[in-house]
Amino acid sequence: MATIFTKIVNGEIPCFKIAEDENYFAFLDINPIKKGHTLVIPKVEEDYIFNLDDNTLAGLSVFAKKVAKAIEKTIPCLRIGVAVMGLEVPHTHIHLVPMEREKDLNFSNPKLKIDPIEMEEIASKIRANF
Ligand code: AMP
Repeated sequence: MATIFTKIVNGEIPCFKIAEDENYFAFLDINPIKKGHTLVIPKVEEDYIFNLDDNTLAGLSVFAKKVAKAIEKTIPCLRIGVAVMGLEVPHTHIHLVPMEREKDLNFSNPKLKIDPIEMEEIASKIRANF
């Protein structure tokens, strides 16, 4: 059965899309720990990032870098933090989180409640900078 992230790629589940190419896709995390918190995924369904083949992993990193640069231009921050956990969704995803301080990358922080209109505004601004 397709993962929830494959359903997002296929347009079966809505998302706040940031960017896409032939092999990769980026969209806002629906439960962000910071404004602009983005997930970057390979389109191939692989649960564990370090089981990706070398080319796919390298391409994912390069794609994530481009997305991170677009987030940096959009959301005031010191830098973009990177995290990979994958304990919840069994489809490789890189979290990109705008950071001003170390604790901003703590996934135990309360999730932000951002209304859908603002989420779309954030996504469209990041898209425009991609
Ligand atoms: P983890 O697998 O532990 O890295 O966490 C999965 C992440 O995916 C969480 O931060 C969720 O908020 C996020 N997530 C789950 N479903 C969706 C969705 N439909 N759209 C956007 N983000 C999602």
